[in-house]
Amino acid sequence: MSLPFRDISDRGGSAAGALGPLVDNFGRAVTYLRVSVTDRCDFRCVYCMSEHMNFLPKQDLLTLEELDRLCSAFVARGVRKLRLTGGEPLVRRDVMTLFRSLSRHLDTGRLEELTVTTNGSQLARYAADLAACGVKRINVSIDTLDAEKFRAITRWGDLGKVLEGVRAAKAAGIHVKINAVALKDVNEHEIASIMEWCHGEGHDLSLIEVMPLGEVGAERVDQYLPLSQVRERLAERYTLTDIDYRTGGPARYLEVKETGGRLGLITPLTHNFCEGCNRVRVTCTGTLFMCLGQEDAADLRAPLRASPDDGVLQAAIDAAIFRKPKGHDFVIDRKTRQPAVHRHMSTTGG
Ligand code: SAM
Ligand code: SF4
Repeated sequence: MSLPFRDISDRGGSAAGALGPLVDNFGRAVTYLRVSVTDRCDFRCVYCMSEHMNFLPKQDLLTLEELDRLCSAFVARGVRKLRLTGGEPLVRRDVMTLFRSLSRHLDTGRLEELTVTTNGSQLARYAADLAACGVKRINVSIDTLDAEKFRAITRWGDLGKVLEGVRAAKAAGIHVKINAVALKDVNEHEIASIMEWCHGEGHDLSLIEVMPLGEVGAERVDQYLPLSQVRERLAERYTLTDIDYRTGGPARYLEVKETGGRLGLITPLTHNFCEGCNRVRVTCTGTLFMCLGQEDAADLRAPLRASPDDGVLQAAIDAAIFRKPKGHDFVIDRKTRQPAVHRHMSTTGG
């Protein structure tokens, strides 16, 4: 596979290697980087964005080459898993160039997994290319299998196209995990049938509790459905067993005896998982967020651009990781009207 960018993974590499792994002040090793490659999206999901969003001017974005250099700096420090996300990552122009160039780290064995979280709208077009870049598992977000409801949740989305994308990914040999945000009254009574469909198609399903990120023009408390409640209801019909299966993310998994499939629960509200957090997030402007649920951030764009050598960048990464907070402070109740953080989920990605 030809390399579209110069191979800069070893830029300042001996120094970076000597710097060793990224370990925070609480002894947690950071081995997982999520990179939001764009804040733009072709959907406007009601829990993620408001209807009218102001997106970043294109000149504020890191170039694909800079994103590659930033990711590679983390890989040089022991990051083993890289997830490209957004906004919608597959709407970023030429994003496959970035996947192709990052796949060299899979070839060398430095990186264990290169993956993506997508809304699936462009997946039919890109599934084969993703597989060719060594992408073996992806997350596709689908909150309902009812086309009208899908349009209402995403405001702009076409379920048929997304399902076509899922089929294309499966045909390309990519394992698809479906992510669904549990939404009170909206998909609450459809969760069992979504699970049956996923497991019947050979997809894992992860349910996510809605998080209070950014103003979306709706009351969070009206959207929030605790997964403890979903689990109780499912347990009336299915035999659910906790299992040790892990994918490196925050989901805890159950095995569903009747379907033979796996169900992941991502429960930032009902069960705080911060003690085992191995993740940090970088936005498309090079801002590093050490925690999804806190405002503190470090600018990596200036250090990245300060020098062609990675010394300054690595020092900035070290200083930031040292400040990684113990955990988030998410609250959703009638009294707490403010989002936990002002940025939308689409800024940092999931
Ligand atoms: N556009 C892509 C997608 O939808 O998969 C990637 C970015 S999206 C921000 C990543 C994931 O975050 C999606 O599964 C989405 O459903 C979830 N998400 C967005 N806003 C959320 C919120 N406020 N609380 C919980 N999950 C959210
Ligand atoms: Fe776009 Fe994903 Fe947010 Fe939906 S959840 S608006 S698809 S970024």
